[in-house]
Amino acid sequence: MRIVEIRERRLSISRYADPAVSSGGLTTSAVAVVTDVQRGGCPVTGYGFASIGRFAQGGLIRERFAPRLLAAADTELADAAGTNLDPFRAWQVMMAGEKPGGHGERCVAVGTLDMALWDAAAKIAGLPLYQHLANRLGGKATTSQRVTVYAGGGYYYPSDDVRRLGEEVRRLRDLGYDRVKIKIGGAPLVQDLKRIEAAVRLLPDAGHLAVDAIYAYTATSALDAAAALAPLGLWWFEDICDPLDFDTLGVVAARYAGPIAAGEALFSAAEARLLDRHAGLRRDRDILLFDPVHCYGLPGYLDIVAALESRGWPRRAFWPHGGHLFCLHVAAGLGLGGGEVNPLCFQPFGGYGDDMMIVAGAAEPPLVSGIGFELKRSLRHAFEALLGGDPSVHC
Ligand code: MG
Repeated sequence: MRIVEIRERRLSISRYADPAVSSGGLTTSAVAVVTDVQRGGCPVTGYGFASIGRFAQGGLIRERFAPRLLAAADTELADAAGTNLDPFRAWQVMMAGEKPGGHGERCVAVGTLDMALWDAAAKIAGLPLYQHLANRLGGKATTSQRVTVYAGGGYYYPSDDVRRLGEEVRRLRDLGYDRVKIKIGGAPLVQDLKRIEAAVRLLPDAGHLAVDAIYAYTATSALDAAAALAPLGLWWFEDICDPLDFDTLGVVAARYAGPIAAGEALFSAAEARLLDRHAGLRRDRDILLFDPVHCYGLPGYLDIVAALESRGWPRRAFWPHGGHLFCLHVAAGLGLGGGEVNPLCFQPFGGYGDDMMIVAGAAEPPLVSGIGFELKRSLRHAFEALLGGDPSVHC
């Protein structure tokens, strides 16, 4: 059981359905991990990318983590039966010699490769990832397939913002999403309230709209925003202040009765425990956004889930950030509360397969082996381009 080749490429992505709208040079890393296992005469290849919203991790992948996987012996990567790749053991190989803390972008680089390792392992097992994951985790996982999802997007448009936001929300409704998340915090509060009003008008009610401030607020402005939002009855209020400003988050949580969502930019179980201890979050209503790819991959994410479950958090509180098919499998395999989808932004990585439907605000992972990225034509082409038609690694 060996990894014979890893390819990585930095790709530009956009926060908008129209990539011509500037996204400040945002990029992601796409990887292909080629194994020595053959299926149908072709090497099993796992695909991954650096989730969404952070820049590419190519240097760390190429210089540190991919070489460790490529140098690993058969026995270091195989599962106990010796019949499949073991992503947990591969994770130990990647993290050899790494010290705790100082996550930087290292956690995302490892998570990017981890996504591809899980794709490959599920393909070798001949199972959809969520089933393979449930099998690997034994009694800890559920096998519920239907996952409640919402559409993420709603970034600020450089001109005609409110009208274009309305068009975007209408498009999302037409795709079957009845819950949507939009951005706030990048404009004066009075302008953000117009954005919220425009979006709510197109949804069943305000309880179907979440707002994400992307850490914009200070200790003072967070309270002003919370006071303005409180009467609206929004679904949740996300990423209110700096990810490590637990003091401000705690003050807001003490005054804002509606659900708060946090954790998207925390990357370890140690940080998750600090959030739980110091940010005043409430287990009966608040939302945990940890991104499995950004938290050193699934092994790191599972540590976070275990750490917070042991402190009384229910699994329904976990709604992983990411907006793609990998997180849908994770939510289904672990029995989490739900997941984000990015059907319009961050293409081709956001969203699901071309033929997958959103029904009554929920989605089911596809039943093909692996994650199923190949079910989306544009994404399949992006990954195939990584392999460049090389017959030794690509059939
Ligand atoms: Mg967010």
